[in-house]
This record gives sequence, C-alpha cells and structure tokens, in this order.
Amino acid sequence: MDVKIQFFSGGYSTHREAIVMRGGSWKSIAFPAVFAVITHPRIGIILYDTGYSARFFEETRNFPARLYAMITPVVYEARDNAAVQLKDLGIDPADVKYIITSHFHADHVGGLKDFPNTKFICSRAGYESVKPRRGLNAVKAGFLAGLIPNDFEVRALYVENQSQVALDSSYAPFQSGYDIFKDGSCYLVDLPGHVVGQLGLFITAEDQKRYFLIADACWVSRAYKELRYPHPITQLITSNYKEYQDTLQKIYQFHRLHPEVIVVPTHCNEQYQDLASGVLA
Ligand SMILES: [Zn+2]
Repeated sequence: MDVKIQFFSGGYSTHREAIVMRGGSWKSIAFPAVFAVITHPRIGIILYDTGYSARFFEETRNFPARLYAMITPVVYEARDNAAVQLKDLGIDPADVKYIITSHFHADHVGGLKDFPNTKFICSRAGYESVKPRRGLNAVKAGFLAGLIPNDFEVRALYVENQSQVALDSSYAPFQSGYDIFKDGSCYLVDLPGHVVGQLGLFITAEDQKRYFLIADACWVSRAYKELRYPHPITQLITSNYKEYQDTLQKIYQFHRLHPEVIVVPTHCNEQYQDLASGVLA
C-alpha cells in the first residue's frame, strides 16, 4: 500500500544536551518539535502530533505557567505552525482526518485547535492523567489546558476502546499494538514512562520502508542506539522512571534486531535534518 510520510518541525526548543542524555555536552542545542504528515490512500491525511503554536506563548504569559516557558525556551514563528505548513502543501487543515496525539505535552498538542474537523486518536489513560490538572500541578505535567479544543472529548477516539493485535516478529520485542486503520499499515504501541499513555507509531510506507515514531521515549537518537539514559534531574518530569528505562531498553533492542527501520524521536535534530533533507526518506 502506498502510504506516504513526511516530517516537519513545528518550532523548536533549546536545552543542554547533557540533560537529555548522559555523556552529552553542556552546550545548548536545538530540539525540533517534529510532527509527521501521513497520506493514506484510503483514509486521507493523518498527523502524528502538531508541534507548537502561537498559543503556547499566550498560555504561558502568566505564572505559574510562565515557569514552563522559562524552563523550556521556545523558538517559533508563524510559518512553523502545522496548519500553515499543511496549507503550503496544498492541504486544507479542515480535511485532516485524524491527529494521533502521542501525549499531551504542549510541544505535541500545540496545534490541535487549528484542525476543526479532526478526530484525535489518543490514550484515554494519558488524557485522564492530565485533564484535571491546573496551575502548578499542570505545569509540572507539561500540560496547558488552553491548548486542548473545547470539544476534545467528543472528537477523541481512545485506543483503549480497541483491542490490541499480536505483532509479528518484525516488530520484536514489541508483541502487540493497535491496528488503527485495520490494514496493517499503522500500529500504535504503548511507550510508557515519559508520561502515562505515550503512544509510538509503527508505519509501513511506500516501497515497504518502515518507520517507528517514538515521541519522547528518548530525545536524541544516540540515546536509543547506545542505550543512554537522560540526566537524573529529568526524573522530576518523568512520570515513571522504571517504565521509562524499560521502554528505552525495548527500543534499543528493537533497533539492534531491525536496524533498517527508521526510528524517529520527536526531538532529535540530527535525525530530523536527515529526514527533512531526504537522506533517509
Ligand atoms: Zn516533547
């Protein structure tokens, strides 16, 4: 099946590399907020996350949310907006069928309000873990309620309402996933630890080229290639560090077993540059 996937950056933030990966440098480096545009011949246009939007700045103007913007300096211009970039491709944002929401951090859901007709494929457990949070409690969870459309719950399709199917050995050590379009092209898998209910996406695109989008299971590619964990300070913002380690170990094993599959951490600039320039696409 001719499923197409393209990668874009919806703004970026800056952090010191040594925080996101042990053994990294203390230089401040750019972390793009990558989103993917999937063109499926039967379903239509699907996004995996959206990156930032201008609403991030509105929602973090006042304390305590302002702490979020202080800890995570964001560089974003109007042209970085996911809906704007889709229009440049000739796609009307109103025609986007689904947005797979990997999790509810602001750098992944920033653009949800720009897609009026879209259904949101996400984890119910993930949504419910952030939904009641406000004030400092929300900031600690990287959650800005103002980024979530008012009718989100009406438009949400929770993966937990489907049953998982067994995956063949080409996905090992992942054993089960959600066959969201019932055609084997896209499987969602649980990648817990960073947050509750984080969803990764396996996709088989044109020419049987395979990708594994892993959201924030790690921030840079070296982390899953060499099994390098982040600085212990990140445990403050990690919902379950043991699960985080287990998930990263699984991705590390997956990569060793299937090195031909392109693994895409949302924020790895090196990987993004290769994907955007066509080296890997
Ligand atoms: Zn992120």
